Amino acid sequence: MSGLRLMAVHAHPDDESSKGAATTAKYAAEGNDVLVVTLTGGERGDVLNPAMDIPGVKERMPEIRKEEMAKAAAALGVEQMWLGFVDSGLPEGDPLPPVPEGSFADIPIDDAIEALVRVVRTFRPHVMITYDEHGGYPHPDHIRDHDVSMAAYQLAGDPEAFPDAGEPWVVQKLYYTHGFIRDRMVLFSDEFEKNGQESPFAEWLSKWDPSRGDIMGRVTTQVEVSDYFPQRDEALRAHATQIDPNGMFFAVPLEWQKRLWPTEEFELARTRVPTALPETDLFAGVVAEGLDPESVKS
Ligand SMILES: [Zn+2]
Repeated sequence: MSGLRLMAVHAHPDDESSKGAATTAKYAAEGNDVLVVTLTGGERGDVLNPAMDIPGVKERMPEIRKEEMAKAAAALGVEQMWLGFVDSGLPEGDPLPPVPEGSFADIPIDDAIEALVRVVRTFRPHVMITYDEHGGYPHPDHIRDHDVSMAAYQLAGDPEAFPDAGEPWVVQKLYYTHGFIRDRMVLFSDEFEKNGQESPFAEWLSKWDPSRGDIMGRVTTQVEVSDYFPQRDEALRAHATQIDPNGMFFAVPLEWQKRLWPTEEFELARTRVPTALPETDLFAGVVAEGLDPESVKS
């Protein structure tokens, strides 16, 4: 199916390139409208690429991250918009300090929900993507990304919610994107060993807490996206201050990824249309013309 609309809600610029990026590139290439909504400007991001840790970069971080994001969106072939909230930063210390005043995790959540509902009612996505209840990664902006997305999925189609934020639109499915999958790491780790090379994942795997289980048990949907891995990598590299080209993201040769693990993983968290699990398509079961808000009223 083409002519459908997919919306991915991300906390910071670069998250769209490290979480489900090839999937957004695939759906865009197949003739669907794909919108990445970036909730914050990533103003509190550190320079994570040693080659970019040079004078003048930190001072211009907000502008640089906008430029990087534009290049990444072009690489993926998606539309992108900013919601304009301020990065909360990753609090460090014990006990954790409060998030900065006025930052995304500090402001009243209803302000963020209304802003996202407005975007949903304008773009009218059939399917939304967000993070799981742990944020996929325990950053306060990622957890809030989850909370705000869940509320927007619930309320965008409700005529009584935020009546000044546009005509109701019913989103039909909502997914969590899942990246840190142990099975995938093990497969790549074994491949490094088979080739007589040291695995970059060995330390990570040795620290794995077996009581945590694997996120793979929650995956409902695997989308075959190997043709779009090069676009994903180009988008990652566009975030030059955030992604080290010699780091983990680029450790596994593309040929191995295509052969051993050609998919990206998602968990169907909410649906208003029937579908059969497991799935291979985020749009499975979707009704192109949309659902009547009256029909889904709770
Ligand atoms: Zn982030």
